Amino acid sequence: MKPRVLIVEDELEVAELERQAFERGGFRAEVVTSASRALERLQTLVPDLVILDLMLPDLDGLEILKFLRFRKELTQVPVIVVSARGEEVDRVLGFELGADDYVVKPFSPRELVLRARAVLRRLHPEEKPQVIRYGPITLYEEEFRVEVEGKELKLTPMEFRLLATLISSPGRVFSREVLLDRVWGYAYEGYGRTVDTHIKRLRKKLGSARDLIETVWGVGYRARVLHD
Ligand code: CA
Repeated sequence: MKPRVLIVEDELEVAELERQAFERGGFRAEVVTSASRALERLQTLVPDLVILDLMLPDLDGLEILKFLRFRKELTQVPVIVVSARGEEVDRVLGFELGADDYVVKPFSPRELVLRARAVLRRLHPEEKPQVIRYGPITLYEEEFRVEVEGKELKLTPMEFRLLATLISSPGRVFSREVLLDRVWGYAYEGYGRTVDTHIKRLRKKLGSARDLIETVWGVGYRARVLHD
């Protein structure tokens, strides 16, 4: 799956150039234009990387960096800090607060993408094609292939990603909002039924393995914890 990058940048032109560069570079990129929007988005999104401008209209970007570093699900998310200030104090503070790289404006968006790749490579030195084995299910992420007891299933891309998300963390309950966000890339209220419909179809296709996907009433779905 493409790595997801969250770009926090209030200058719309810069943000758009960065977004395009990342999309071209094989990322899924999303832009938020203020600190408060960033904090809101990070309630549900766990990106693979954050590009963080320090000079934001509503709050110093360093506050977002602190938030990322103190929130359990987000501490591992690498951050590249972007600043027009280029002052030593920012650089030092940024690294102290756990930034992974520091770029001074102006810079070329392509350079930023290269730096981003370097940061991700440092974190995941030998990323292998991912195979998830879960009970009778084997899912080959890169080949977009699923087998149940050795027999191949025909899944749509959304069903595939839904299944991959659930079985990569057995026992973890995913709310409809989080699933929408992870699988469809957006989280709008009122779209929960989309998830339900896809789960229904997915279960049907899973056949004998259908009961491994459990409904947690009032919350969402999870892949059963297997004891064997
Ligand atoms: Ca700015």
